[in-house]
Amino acid sequence: MDKDTLWSVIGHSWAVAQLQRAIRAKHQAHAYLFTGPAHVGRRTLALALARALNCTGEQPPCDLNAGDVCRACRLIAAEKHPDVRVLAPEGASLKIDQIRALQHDLALSPVEGLFRVAIIDGMEQATVEASNALLKTLEEPSTCVVLILIASEPDILLPTIVSRCQHLPLRALAVEQVSQALVEHWTVEPQRADELAHLSGGRLGWAVMAHQDETVLQKRASGLDDLLRLLDGKRVARFAYAKRLADDQAAVLETLELWEIWWRDVMLLAAGSTAPLVNIDRLAVLKQHAARFGVDRAREVLEALSRTARQVAHNANARLALEVLMLDLPRA
Ligand SMILES: [Zn+2]
Repeated sequence: MDKDTLWSVIGHSWAVAQLQRAIRAKHQAHAYLFTGPAHVGRRTLALALARALNCTGEQPPCDLNAGDVCRACRLIAAEKHPDVRVLAPEGASLKIDQIRALQHDLALSPVEGLFRVAIIDGMEQATVEASNALLKTLEEPSTCVVLILIASEPDILLPTIVSRCQHLPLRALAVEQVSQALVEHWTVEPQRADELAHLSGGRLGWAVMAHQDETVLQKRASGLDDLLRLLDGKRVARFAYAKRLADDQAAVLETLELWEIWWRDVMLLAAGSTAPLVNIDRLAVLKQHAARFGVDRAREVLEALSRTARQVAHNANARLALEVLMLDLPRA
């Protein structure tokens, strides 16, 4: 790890520095909210915070790339520490039973660490009942419990939840930083690293997944092919696609995110922005879309996509939400 890489976390150094200052001063919050795009490093940072709180090494938290890693850091990094729970939606949503089971655990003293840490990854998929149940825990903080909520953006959550958390908004890393990390830590060949870094849009976790699992790039390609086909397609074909996609909620959110990134590129190009594009391997089509749809239309599609993602995350009828989206998609 580079000397300036704190807590074995690549990027997000401002957030790590802020958390580190708080822990050194013993002023850490009872609850944190980490937001940002999926695979940008939110869970990595949450696990690093859990290590910093429970590390028994000399310079907490231990450097995971060094030889001497304490038992607590080792177990937490592997998500196997008895006092650190990682919760994610079961099926389509994060359910009240999951929150209740968590609360039962949090009421007990730590088994071997100093803090019980609960990481809730995918808070935007919590049902209203689950959110309200969690509110109780947030309202009655315990001195040896730290909650870390992970969500794409704060607006999706109940304001009463957000206001009780310290909010750290994580942003995409610079393309160069992702590329460099791939070369240095995952021994990716430089040209390939640069390509993956672009396609990741600054989400290191996505770039690593795409490097390790070729189906990630295949899924991306077919998701974009679907979008281009739908722009040409008639309403019947669009509705048939909505029905098929609606059956798999994880795929719905992934597809919507992929399409959002596409339309953001279209908007940037149409606006003549110099910000780096993500879908550089399909530049010719992006340019056609930018010329054809312009900034305003691209923005409308982006809004429709994010509205749909929000509805699906909130357990609205996915098929209906997608059908409305299909009517909002322009014709190529
Ligand atoms: Zn340690």
